[in-house]
Amino acid sequence: MALNFIWKIAGALADALHLPGFPKHKEPKFDKKKVTVIFVLGGTGAGKGTQCSLLVEKYNFSHLSTGDLLRAEQDRLDSQFGDLIRTHIREGEIVPMEVVVKLLENAMCAVLESKTGEGWGDGKGRFLVDGFPRKMDQALKFEEDVCTSSLVLFFTTNEETMLERLLERGKTSSRDDDNIESIKKRFATYKETTMPVIEHYEKSGKVAEVDSSPSVDEIHAVAAAAVAKVLT
Ligand code: UDP
Ligand code: MG
Repeated sequence: MALNFIWKIAGALADALHLPGFPKHKEPKFDKKKVTVIFVLGGTGAGKGTQCSLLVEKYNFSHLSTGDLLRAEQDRLDSQFGDLIRTHIREGEIVPMEVVVKLLENAMCAVLESKTGEGWGDGKGRFLVDGFPRKMDQALKFEEDVCTSSLVLFFTTNEETMLERLLERGKTSSRDDDNIESIKKRFATYKETTMPVIEHYEKSGKVAEVDSSPSVDEIHAVAAAAVAKVLT
């Protein structure tokens, strides 16, 4: 106990003095025992949104899509990040992680204060974080500052299916990036930047891979079974 205390003080001092090589002792904001975070990844157009809605119905999750949070921030009148977000999204690039992690943390706090029902109350909650983390730095920052994740649901499909679904969605979505040029850039970013995140979590056995080529119901059954294992 006393040792632990001294260790913490030393850690805090080292942080304050910016001493390199000394382990950091900051705890994430939310405790994994109370707050379940499931990351939802998969190529753009793999059907993450659809599957998340079904999981929300079944398990009373809060569904936070980082893409939606970014688009809302981009459109917020006095946001200082609007232009930065807009250009990154159009180019299919990843917005700097500080922005996304902060938006997520704020959204999680708001939901934890208001949401009720199965899995919620007394600081408890369950989140599907959709479209995140897309880059290693985001993953590490989130786990260090906000919450340790419980599972990564990884929806896989081929590029032709994704392209077909995205172009279809583009007819009605009015999104800046549902056009062939942006889609190609998003595919490339996904391969170069997001695949390493999946590989990282595979090493710790946290990834549940779900083939998203069969019917919506079949995919849902597989995803729901994986999720049930980590819910308490
Ligand atoms: N984006 C980002 N960081 C994130 C999530 C999204 O920078 O954590 C940006 C990125 O430019 C991405 C775009 O938002 O291409 C759209 O993301 P969304 O998840 O809405 O699109 P999806 O890939 O699901 O179609
Ligand atoms: Mg999406």
